[in-house]
Amino acid sequence: MQNETSTRQRAAGYIALVLVTGLIALGWRFGVARDVVRANESPAAAASVIGEPAPVVAVDAAVPVLPVNVPVIVDAALSPDLVANTFVGRKPEHAFQIYRVERGDTPNGIADKFGIKATTLLGGNPLLSQESSLLQTGVDLVILPIDGVLHDVQPGDTLESISAQYSVPVETITGYGPNNLEFPYRLYPETQILIPGAVRDVFVWTPPSLESVRGRSTGSGVAPLIVGTGTFIYPVGSRNFTQYFWYGHPGIDIALAEGSTVVASDTGTVTFAGWNIYGYGNLIVINHGNGYETFYAHLNGINVVPGQIVYQGNAIGSTGNTGNSSGPHVHFEVRINGAQDDPCWYVGGC
Ligand SMILES: [Zn+2]
Repeated sequence: MQNETSTRQRAAGYIALVLVTGLIALGWRFGVARDVVRANESPAAAASVIGEPAPVVAVDAAVPVLPVNVPVIVDAALSPDLVANTFVGRKPEHAFQIYRVERGDTPNGIADKFGIKATTLLGGNPLLSQESSLLQTGVDLVILPIDGVLHDVQPGDTLESISAQYSVPVETITGYGPNNLEFPYRLYPETQILIPGAVRDVFVWTPPSLESVRGRSTGSGVAPLIVGTGTFIYPVGSRNFTQYFWYGHPGIDIALAEGSTVVASDTGTVTFAGWNIYGYGNLIVINHGNGYETFYAHLNGINVVPGQIVYQGNAIGSTGNTGNSSGPHVHFEVRINGAQDDPCWYVGGC
């Protein structure tokens, strides 16, 4: 009995072994055959083969069911998967023109030469918006081939974040060839991508409101509202203009000796008189009570205080070279309802 049982068990073991070996062999051949099919068929057809459920093979319940599509080692299996983490795309390849500023050049004039907007000069040369970096003769400017902004890629930047920052659709950014952005759109810090149609933001500082300063210098009560004449005079005697109004420079610069008298361009109430941390240096702002404000920047001396009423032509301070300034001059700005406008329109003769 014992012999018979062990012989039967051994026989059953052999049968199981043969069955398993047979199944593995079958799987091998099936796998190889499938790879041949995959190589010869279109990608779509191959995909449908891959997605096919494993065929069910009826076997004796005593034999463990082996999946027929066990991993098969073929040449293709040695190639790493193409995943986003390992994707190495091309870096941007831009071809910019360089323009050397000549005497008498203006931002609008340079932009016209190249058929781009003046804002694009700032798009390619962010430092141009700084008061100290005047458009000086001999300075080299980057001229972008199309209107837009050259964006320095920062760690953490995504196409979506850049798209939101400039309000330009992602497809517009990826669609610009020299950006070399191909799916899955890898961005490289320390490279630059061009954002077509974008305009670089310029920070605009807002002075205190008229309401916030009225009454400050009168001790008690609110000072009477003084309304300007609506006409504007030059704040200084000089007409030596060193920079005009454009998108990257919201006022006019007039050079003259340090310590020269600065007068109120029109009647109004002083809303700011002191040091300004945003590059203006010593600054006076007059609110004219009719929507207009005038700015007098880079001063040496300040003779007025916030809340004080001044009349057109009153001396309010003296010129200097404070803040972001590369020489003694007054930066004169006119704002209408908070928007910067060209002072030349108001004082005339620029
Ligand atoms: Zn200026």
